[in-house]
Amino acid sequence: MSTDTENVSKDRRKYEFRKVIEELREYEGSGTQLVTIYIPPDRQVSDVVAHVTQEHSEAANIKSKQTRTNVQDALTSIKDRLRYYDTYPPDNGIVLFSGAVSTGGGQTTMVTRSLESPPEPIQSFRYHCDSDFLTDPLENMLADKGLFGLIVLDRREANVGWLKGKRVEPVKSASSLVPGKQRKGGQSAQRFARLRLEAIDNFYQEVAGMADDLFVPKRHEIDGVLVGGPSPTKDEFLDGDYLHHELGDVVVGKFDVSYTDESGLHDLVDSAQEVLADQEVMKDKAEMEEFFEKLHGGEEATYGFEPTRQNLMMGSVDRLLLSEDLRSDVVVYECPDEHEEYEVIDRRHDDPDHTCSDCGSTSEKVKREDVIEYLMSIAEQRGTETKFISTDFEKGEQLHDAFGGIAGILRYATGI
Ligand SMILES: [Zn+2]
Repeated sequence: MSTDTENVSKDRRKYEFRKVIEELREYEGSGTQLVTIYIPPDRQVSDVVAHVTQEHSEAANIKSKQTRTNVQDALTSIKDRLRYYDTYPPDNGIVLFSGAVSTGGGQTTMVTRSLESPPEPIQSFRYHCDSDFLTDPLENMLADKGLFGLIVLDRREANVGWLKGKRVEPVKSASSLVPGKQRKGGQSAQRFARLRLEAIDNFYQEVAGMADDLFVPKRHEIDGVLVGGPSPTKDEFLDGDYLHHELGDVVVGKFDVSYTDESGLHDLVDSAQEVLADQEVMKDKAEMEEFFEKLHGGEEATYGFEPTRQNLMMGSVDRLLLSEDLRSDVVVYECPDEHEEYEVIDRRHDDPDHTCSDCGSTSEKVKREDVIEYLMSIAEQRGTETKFISTDFEKGEQLHDAFGGIAGILRYATGI
């Protein structure tokens, strides 16, 4: 239960970050005047203030008066923000953005955003002043990260390591004593062949042992194992069931790679791109399969804003499925007779007029909110898990296009 709640708030956090990043990506400065600062959790806030003060005085040398003023204003507003923090930034650090962004027609407006506690710790301090904000490091953090075990081998050499998100981490290597195909004089051909097979078998066992030691303790977190090497080595290795059976079950692909040193681990990841992309949407695919099964089989599924909202309020939704590409607002209306009604509209559009469908009188707007945040907060109150579904596969696209990006898998049928 507590993990569910943690997941919900983690998803929500990620969503909030993604939204701010999308907003920031749109902005442009008329000169190099947009400032971004990444502050790692172990960096003293006073150090950062000193750095910003230094940049502020150096900015006095900027030739264009307008750019100079804008950069200094941005730095001042960053310094103001930094006053809210104690000695160290909050968990995982802070990212600050500030600058005068173009609003068209030569006009600018000052934008300042601070993002606290990103999903992963910020690794290093970065000061960036350019015509756009630096959002890439944050975007990489938000990308769904997998954990994969990597094995590359031929009959002479093997390397094992991890793929963590986008980072390849070599861990162990081994080399074999398998003799070449050429036998020495005096040995019988039969005996030579037998010894050679034994040596190969021993080496495969050694490699499997190395992989087991590394991967088995993490077998519940691992998203899959990738194996690379020339043919037929990798096939012999896999077909011979050398790996611990729980690892054997999660081998998601074998690939031809020519090198079996550390660079082979990188080659393996390059060759496995398609499989890795599939793995990333696999969980989303499973959610959508279940949704369609329930939708066709019975009544334990719902979709569209209003039915999903009603089910959420009843507490009947087990999982709320929201399309990652959903970009809409909900406008809440109330008529003089207190009938509450909702309209979901494109984020860029103005509030439409609304007539109460119950009594026909004109309704007043009560509030307008991002539809995802609106639904997620009901979900959190009712103990419903929220899942974001990518549009990178057919059924995910269908959720977005045919179901308005909103659906739910129900705990029981409600007839709504
Ligand atoms: Zn009414």
